[in-house]
Amino acid sequence: TTTPQKGQIESVLKETYNKYKDLKEGKNADYIPELAKVPSDQFAIVIIGPDGQVYSQGDVDALYSIQSISKVLTLARAIEESGAQAVQDKIGVDPTGQRFNSALAVEQNKGKELNPLVNAGAIATTSMLKGNTYEEKWKNIIQTHNDFAGRQLEVNEPVYKSEAATNQHNQALASLMNSFERMYFDPQKSVDLYTKQCAININTKDLAMIAATLANGGTNPVTKKKVVSPQTVAHVLPVMATCGLYDDSGIWFYNVGLPAKSGVGGGIMAIVPGQYGIAAFSPRLDEAGNSIRAQRAIADIVSKLNLNPYLIQ
Ligand code: GLN
Repeated sequence: TTTPQKGQIESVLKETYNKYKDLKEGKNADYIPELAKVPSDQFAIVIIGPDGQVYSQGDVDALYSIQSISKVLTLARAIEESGAQAVQDKIGVDPTGQRFNSALAVEQNKGKELNPLVNAGAIATTSMLKGNTYEEKWKNIIQTHNDFAGRQLEVNEPVYKSEAATNQHNQALASLMNSFERMYFDPQKSVDLYTKQCAININTKDLAMIAATLANGGTNPVTKKKVVSPQTVAHVLPVMATCGLYDDSGIWFYNVGLPAKSGVGGGIMAIVPGQYGIAAFSPRLDEAGNSIRAQRAIADIVSKLNLNPYLIQ
């Protein structure tokens, strides 16, 4: 890869935004009732470079819930606190090949061989974070998110309440995990913490800053705070590469070659290690639960700016 010039990044960003701004394929997630209400036409793309330089297009200030992307941050924190081996042993790091909320994936290996980026593994990862009480664990989770984003984030209360009232399936996953002794805190409290972390509100600049912090070896490029170690990031990015876009993770990696993570709120972040954090947001999702415009926008940008690390030319 080469390092693109600033003007080139700006023009590619603009071109990509214009190419997809009228695309209406897919639909909002609606299994969490509040997500169905998010304006579907919202679209934003942000790139943040190693010097903290921000490039943006579209609705960059629009707030939305982070959803599954929070799983990356709690994974990073768990590795930082307990070590990579503990996460490998207590949760697992292999792709399940199943949908993100699969109970079958839990049942078939008795709660083992999951990964922190599918619901059951993510709830278990949240349960293993440091803190003796619900409150202590929550402080740990929100602080981690604030540190990655470089500013204080808030919970989207309507989304939190909406999902808490309808998350019986996740409660069932936690109980099933508990039956296999693969939960490390009260299962229902862990589901609640997980639901709340998924409801943290971000905008696309926050998402790009989270991505840029990962691209920068775990140090936020603007606040300069060391959020997690480079060694932790080196374990997080491969899990994103193999499991970041649910059961379409293989297709994504095959085509784009970068670790990424999506959320059903419509956000996707991709990481160019040592260089850029790229984020895009658009609420309409495909069958796998990944934002259609966000995927296409990031894929185009990576190709046009020649950021695929596997493409040597
Ligand atoms: N909170 C959502 C859930 O548990 C997150 C899922 C996602 O973004 N894929 O279903």
